[in-house]
Amino acid sequence: MLFDLKEVLRNPGVREFKFELDLSEFEFSSVKEWCAPLTVDGKVRNSGGVLTLTCTVTSDAVCVCDRCGREFRRRESGDYEAYLQENLTDDDNPDIFPVKGGMVDLEEVVRTLYVLDAPALTLCGETDCGFGGLEV
Ligand SMILES: [Zn+2]
Repeated sequence: MLFDLKEVLRNPGVREFKFELDLSEFEFSSVKEWCAPLTVDGKVRNSGGVLTLTCTVTSDAVCVCDRCGREFRRRESGDYEAYLQENLTDDDNPDIFPVKGGMVDLEEVVRTLYVLDAPALTLCGETDCGFGGLEV
């Protein structure tokens, strides 16, 4: 989803966005099934020429516990932040995303932030977790 930043690039301020992100095409080892698309709620702020994207991502999925193998429903929200830059030449920094022709691909940005932030282990949090199943 391309998001038009031309206005906020010209006039320092804030542009808000809200969209749904379908990750069903992506393999997450801990996710058995997505119950709903992710909802993404955020904004892009231009402060003195520096573009900052902040957003809250809410997910709802049936997960599999990495320790005991139990399936459980997980609903959670996480906050993410990234920088956007026009004419980006240094693409080694994973926290900076390119703006091309005044547009940014929000799905790409949020998907990248979400995947990079995914925990190495998904645990169900039950008190007896770890006594019945595979050792980690
Ligand atoms: Zn568990």
